[in-house]
Amino acid sequence: MVKICCIGAGYVGGPTMAVMALKCPEIQVTVVDISEPRINAWNSDTLPIYEPGLDDVVKQCRDKNLFFSTDVERHVSESDIVFVSVNTPTKTQGLGAGKAADLTYWESAARMIADVSRSSKIVVEKSTVPVRTAEAIEKILTHNNNSRGVEFQILSNPEFLAEGTAINDLYTPDRVLIGGRGSPGGQKAVKALRDVYAHWVPLERIICTNLWSAELSKLAANAFLAQRISSVNAMSALCEATGADVSQVAHAVGTDSRIGPKFLNASVGFGGSCFQKDILNLIYICECNGLPEAASYWKQVIKVNDYQKTRFANRVVSSMFNTVSGKKIAILGFAFKKDTGDTRETPAIDVCNRLVADMAKLSIYDPRVLEEQIRKDLSVARFDWNHHQIKAEGMLEQVSVVSDAYVATKDAHGICVLTEWDEFKSLDFERIFENMRKPAFVFDGRNVVDAVKLREIGFIVYSIGKPLDS
Ligand code: NAD
Repeated sequence: MVKICCIGAGYVGGPTMAVMALKCPEIQVTVVDISEPRINAWNSDTLPIYEPGLDDVVKQCRDKNLFFSTDVERHVSESDIVFVSVNTPTKTQGLGAGKAADLTYWESAARMIADVSRSSKIVVEKSTVPVRTAEAIEKILTHNNNSRGVEFQILSNPEFLAEGTAINDLYTPDRVLIGGRGSPGGQKAVKALRDVYAHWVPLERIICTNLWSAELSKLAANAFLAQRISSVNAMSALCEATGADVSQVAHAVGTDSRIGPKFLNASVGFGGSCFQKDILNLIYICECNGLPEAASYWKQVIKVNDYQKTRFANRVVSSMFNTVSGKKIAILGFAFKKDTGDTRETPAIDVCNRLVADMAKLSIYDPRVLEEQIRKDLSVARFDWNHHQIKAEGMLEQVSVVSDAYVATKDAHGICVLTEWDEFKSLDFERIFENMRKPAFVFDGRNVVDAVKLREIGFIVYSIGKPLDS
């Protein structure tokens, strides 16, 4: 029986391996992590992450051919294929701080693999890593394991799932990308991994490339996606200034088959753990390779995203007669997108911090994010793209976290919709209006509410990139 082990039981390692176990019943899959609480949660009825459909997949194969364990070394040493799906955040100090990827977790995983391996293995980069990371990993693995005759083949197999739709993305991926060395050993490893995916992915969707193309393609894909959002967001500002409607413009533009309609929704800005981190990483790599003009192109994508968040928060304050001091503002949605409880880099952090700095009282409701997480997010200092440290000015006594949208909006002067949760579309806005201070404002950072209907009720509505009277 082929044994697969995945180091890192996070948003990627957990769902990816659960689907692999489901689709390959004859393969034993073990997901290992140094975090005991995380592994305990994977072994319980309350999984550590929320992802539609995930509970069901895990229930079907857990303790049959899918296992979760903290016994990292044993499972790595017993496996034929070892995926590494540890976190690769942005470095916070030292060379490249604020831009470069921090490969500390990766390096420590690689050293451990080298130390415990007594048989040859395929080591798969599942994490998003800088281009040419495999070269460094090869050095660590081979130098540390010289005397034992154990061979390692490194593959790059970046993950393209999106949180909130991870299970569907894994069932029917647009493509699976496998990068490997051109040597016979490298190509044999590529074939072995391709055979695993071929259990459920059509062969024409499995793309095999060299290592560096696969590593760079993941950074490129995220940069292109984020760039699309910044493009439509930059357009949304112009729409507001000219009376055009960004949804109509996006529709007109997206019907061009060369452009396509997806990923053209204007919003308060992109978030999530990957887009900003991966673009910063790309910028760093461009700079290290003496390509400052290429770097500055990608910098602009992040600049526009920051601009959009600031523009939104400023619009809230300026619309409410230039002050939100002492005013209650309901924040509907804190996760970086719907159908996830993930708040990493969510635009809600920036918007909330700005409003709190202007002395607003925030009442925050999100269907999936816990109060503890929101308080933690609003109290942490972060870096911007230029390595300026942004101090979190969150004065947490101004913030309350509540368990439903009606409590959040009661006696509020304004509402900010910051996540596109479906339930926000069907709220009883007549009831909400009754219970709010007047004039009652709605600032829709995701264009999810029916602005026309809300205006009929009596709200003053601001929607991203839309005329104020449409
Ligand atoms: P995560 O933080 O949710 O999970 C990483 C896990 O690795 C953590 O549980 C951590 O405890 C564990 N870990 C770290 N070092 C370890 C070690 N030495 N041994 C065992 N466990 C260790 O991260 P994630 O969101 O799953 O992302 C993982 C990688 O995948 C990142 O490189 C990310 O950029 C990439 N990625 C993420 C997404 C996404 O949507 N989250 C999508 C595609 C790719």
